[in-house]
Amino acid sequence: MSDKLQRAGIYIHFPFCLSRCSYCDFVTEIYRDEDFVEKYIAAICKEISLSAASPYQVDTIYFGGGTPSLLKSSQLERILKIIDLKFSLMFDELEITLEMNPASISLEKLKQFKSLGINRASFGVQTFDDYLLRILSRRHTAKQSIETFHLLRKAGFDNVSFDLIVGLPHQTMQIWKDDLKKAIDLNPEHLSLYLLEIHEGTPLAKQIRSQRQPQPDEDLSAEMYKTMIECLENSGYVQYEISNFARSGFQSRHNLKYWRCSPVFGFGVSAFSFCDGRRWSNEKNIKKYIETVESGRLPINFTENVNLASEFAFLGLRLADGINLDEYKQRFGFDLLEQFHDEIEKFQKLGLVEIKEGSLRLTKQGMIYSNEVFMIFV
Ligand code: SF4
Repeated sequence: MSDKLQRAGIYIHFPFCLSRCSYCDFVTEIYRDEDFVEKYIAAICKEISLSAASPYQVDTIYFGGGTPSLLKSSQLERILKIIDLKFSLMFDELEITLEMNPASISLEKLKQFKSLGINRASFGVQTFDDYLLRILSRRHTAKQSIETFHLLRKAGFDNVSFDLIVGLPHQTMQIWKDDLKKAIDLNPEHLSLYLLEIHEGTPLAKQIRSQRQPQPDEDLSAEMYKTMIECLENSGYVQYEISNFARSGFQSRHNLKYWRCSPVFGFGVSAFSFCDGRRWSNEKNIKKYIETVESGRLPINFTENVNLASEFAFLGLRLADGINLDEYKQRFGFDLLEQFHDEIEKFQKLGLVEIKEGSLRLTKQGMIYSNEVFMIFV
């Protein structure tokens, strides 16, 4: 096995937020009780120490949530210390990302995070339109997002990613173009652009069902997606995945691990792990998670064996580089083009996939209709 295959990532889930956004279906709770959060941090540290010794070298750590920017720097330091004790960290190349919410951060705290080694900020802007931010029940305004971005720069963060959402109720093409322009003017190193998913049971889903908010228009969302690719590529960003754009050298190395089926070990409530063709996830209830770990047991509540070949193909096709056909053959012993000959030929004729430089890739059009192409590997 080459050195490249030996690398792994770590994901830490912090499931607390100051309030709940109307579209959110993540495993999160309102941050009310400091003692409870403290217990949760102790449980994460214990879960890490309970985990099996890992032969992998860790070069990415990702704090997601929830709102991990609510972590105290002392809590963050404790988690990082236990990771360091348990795993072999590649300090020279370590990418440590922390998701940040504009309403939960000060310059002093950002400087503390930076001094602890956090070197990448994933920043939940979502939109620069205050009316849409209110529909989403976000706690911040567009002005606060811009101010926080400047604070990040002041604190020395030179690797910042914005999250933006496309396909919001009331979002017109003009609003979307303005969002893109404001984002590009601020010049973050990376942008992740998500299509709004309406999850059953969320306040937004109820509002749409009772017609208090309009159903987003799918055709308009597809047009917005095309506009986004055009605007960002014209501004020097490179699309390296269906929803992700970066300046050269600033791709998310952690997220690339998911798309390349590299090992990732997740800790915390509801966290997923993937390694050697096996996927497992943790208990989803925060109290049960803490109790299980406190009693000295791992909080795993779901395990499955994954068909690694189809997972590798399915996820690899999300990447602009596509699936390297030689690598696929080497890893799985099959010729992908023979294995899925009829399906690939059909999508080639429709202009949705192409074979270029030894890889099978989505075309620009294929990126828009990717879900249909992915059905090949399901
Ligand atoms: S900040 Fe993120 S995790 Fe928290 S409620 Fe909003 S969308 Fe969900």
